[in-house]
Order: sequence, then C-alpha cells, then structure tokens
Amino acid sequence: MPKIYLIDVTNRDGVQTAKLGLSKLEKTMVNIYLDEMGVFQSEFGFPTTRHESHYLEANLELVEMGGLKSIRLEGWIRAIASDVELAFKLVPKIRHLNLSISTSDQMIYGKFQGKMTKDDVIKEMVEAVDAARELGAESIGVNAEDGSRTDLNYLIKFGLAAKEHKADRFRYCDTLGYDNPFTIYETAKALAENVGLPIEIHCHGDLGMAVANSIAGARGALDGGQDAYINTTINGIGERAGNADLVATILAATKSKGFAEKYPLAGAIKLKLASKIAKFASYAFKEPIPKNQPGVGENAFAHASGIHADGVLKDPENYELYSFEELGRGEPEKVETGREICAGEYSGVSGFSHIMGKMEVTFKNKEEANEILELVRYANVEAQKPLVEDELLFIAKYPKIARKLLTLTPLG
Ligand SMILES: [Zn+2]
Repeated sequence: MPKIYLIDVTNRDGVQTAKLGLSKLEKTMVNIYLDEMGVFQSEFGFPTTRHESHYLEANLELVEMGGLKSIRLEGWIRAIASDVELAFKLVPKIRHLNLSISTSDQMIYGKFQGKMTKDDVIKEMVEAVDAARELGAESIGVNAEDGSRTDLNYLIKFGLAAKEHKADRFRYCDTLGYDNPFTIYETAKALAENVGLPIEIHCHGDLGMAVANSIAGARGALDGGQDAYINTTINGIGERAGNADLVATILAATKSKGFAEKYPLAGAIKLKLASKIAKFASYAFKEPIPKNQPGVGENAFAHASGIHADGVLKDPENYELYSFEELGRGEPEKVETGREICAGEYSGVSGFSHIMGKMEVTFKNKEEANEILELVRYANVEAQKPLVEDELLFIAKYPKIARKLLTLTPLG
C-alpha cells in the first residue's frame, strides 16, 4: 500500500528566502531535529555552491558517525550534466540528488528565451540523470519547476523520459502556488498513473493553500498507485509566501477528517518535537512564529470567549482537535531572570565552563575547554547571536564536525 513520506526543504528553499538565512551550524541542527522527528529526507543544501561544501561533507560524515540516524540527506542542483559533475567533485560523498529544470512554456520561452526548446529541456534532464547515476548517485529525483503551469502531456513525457533513464522520483513543483486542491489532485493522480514513478509534491502558499494542496496532491499520487513525498519547510518559511509548513502538514495528514486511514504517513513521526523544531527555526531565522500558526503558535491553544473556555475546561475535545502535549508544549521553560553568563565571540574559559557545567558537560582539562570555547566563539561570529544549548552540546560532542562546519575558507 502506497504511503506519504516527508522531505523537508528548509535547508534549501527555506534558506533561499529573501532577507533570511541560516549559519552552517544552524542548518546542521535543523537536520538533527528533522532526524529526531522521523522525517524521511532533508534537502540539506546546494552541492554546487562552494561555501556549502564543508557543511555538506560534515553532515554526511555525521551520518557515518551515527550523529544522524535515519534521515536521508539529499542535495539540490540544476539538471545539467556539468552541475552534476561539479557536485560530485565538490562533495564526493553525496549520494542523493534532486535535479531541477523548468518545464513550463512560460519559463522555457520567458526564462530561457529561445536558448532551449522543450525537447532540449528533456535532453538536458536525462543527460543529468545519466551523469548522476554514473557518478554514484543512489537516488535521483527530477524536478519539474513550474510544473503547475506546464501542459500535462509534456509533464508525462518529461516524467517518462526520466523513468527510462532510471530516475527514482518525479517532483511536481507548484512553484508559484498556482494550484488548488482539486487541480493538484487530478494532476498528481494522472502523473502517478501515466509516469509510474513516486510523486513528490512541492507547494507554495501564494494563494494560501500550500498545506491543503500538499495533502490533496499526495492523495492523488496514492490514488494513482504511487508513493507521495510531500515537501515541507519548518514554520512554512520559503520563497515569497512560503512553503507547506512541516507541522501543519503533519497535523493535516494525521488529524483531518478521515484522511489518515486511507492515506497514511510512512514511518513514525514524533509530533512531540514540533514545538522544539518550530522554536529553533524561529530563533535561527530571527523570524517570529505567527500567533495563529497551527499547533505551535502562541494562540493555538488559547481560549478567551466564555463559551469556548467553559467548554474546553469541561472536556478539551469540545474545542481542540489535538492536545498541546502531543506537540511537546506545556513543559515549564527555564528562563534566566537574574545573573546571566552568555557564551559569545569574546567569551573567556571560566564563564564558558560555568555555562557548560550547568548542562553537566565537564572538560578533561583546560586545553579541551579552550578548544571547545574557540569553536563556540567562531560559531557565534557566524550566527551573530547566542548559541542555544543544543548547539553548545553539539560542539562539545562533535568538535571535529563543528570545526569543519565553521571552516569557510574559499576552496581552491
Ligand atoms: Zn519552492
């Protein structure tokens, strides 16, 4: 029975967002939290972008060391054979790729401006798929950018060509958020039936329907007999109006009327980490979580009106679809209100040892404390904000990986 998988693209689409970004350590923490949560795959970055190389390699090493347990790390590049070659040159350990190319007439004529025909687009894509396979890719997804403004017959032709060249998945991109649940259902079903590959659903929120479109598209893929892979981002952060929010997508797939019985999520998703991952992304992106964000917003469980408050106190199910505990909310939080010693780029070893001691981390000797402190200082320089506890613990546990993440020397 086909199932729905989650591919989070925060570290690709999320960081592509205008005016927002993450440090390499923050991107790593996102991968760690997604792994803990049980998300199938993280689109963890850009293998042809040189300042990503150390970060990507370090995270692939983290997989080998068991620091990332079950999540698959996949890189996003253009579907061009020379980009595939560059990706393997810069990140030799990369094994999972998504190859992207525009498929709509609008893009082919408006963006490529006569440099490529529709046949050229397919040719370029299959050459990239062949190159990726030859260089050792274990899984390859092909992305039809602007898929929702692409003629369905051409999309099928594109998908069949990808399949013939042994691509593993077809990503249908509603790049502009143009679809609605009815149209994306039909398209995803037609693609699943006619292409015969698992379908990735990539939605944007320009018309306020990213999550609704994601589960409708997933349903289409499953009804067409194929697995679905929904693309999400944490807190819905993404280009323009954003992508399908990770937590809201999980809630929609598991809690909405009658959906989960016929269209189940694969694997065990730990919803309990929802609050933690949302808060971390909000802090790292310096972007507040909207008050009314499903599940994790400040007001998601707030009741003021007399009738609702009375009802929810008698029985929470009167006015709540799910409990705050399920999302990992409600635990008391420790907030320093007195003296506070922070670890910053100009910290000294005594203050730093004090902070780490509070988290029950002790150092063998002064040299070790100094080494970790030095890495923490560098991490501060990159992030330009105090590190969270999990980041400090990560650096103490994986100093070699941290060093690599923080090494931003341009490659030769
Ligand atoms: Zn996108």
